[in-house]
Amino acid sequence: MRRAVRSVVAGQFQTVKRVFSSHNLQVAYHTRNLLEAEGITAVVKNEMLSSAMGELPPAECQIEVWVLRDADFETANQLLRSPRGRNEAPWTCDSCGEGIEGQFTQCWRCGAYRRA
Ligand SMILES: [Zn+2]
Repeated sequence: MRRAVRSVVAGQFQTVKRVFSSHNLQVAYHTRNLLEAEGITAVVKNEMLSSAMGELPPAECQIEVWVLRDADFETANQLLRSPRGRNEAPWTCDSCGEGIEGQFTQCWRCGAYRRA
């Protein structure tokens, strides 16, 4: 799960780490927003691959979310796995009926918040 690659960012070599992957572009962006709301700089990768396919990409083309700073990796992992001790059970959106993974408190499709 933990994979590190060398990447050129702003002309400097730097280690970036993947914290999340999904077949769903909206979920990937939602995850990035979640991280950035906590002050963690994150990027979405492989979105071009996905849109080029025009449908669900195969496993090797999963859309990935990466953090740019090593120091943020553990924080990001904890945030995505158990944000502030919330129940992680999957839930269904009351507004649009979309199935949402437990780490999210807001529907990625319609923006409605999870009912308490
Ligand atoms: Zn919804």
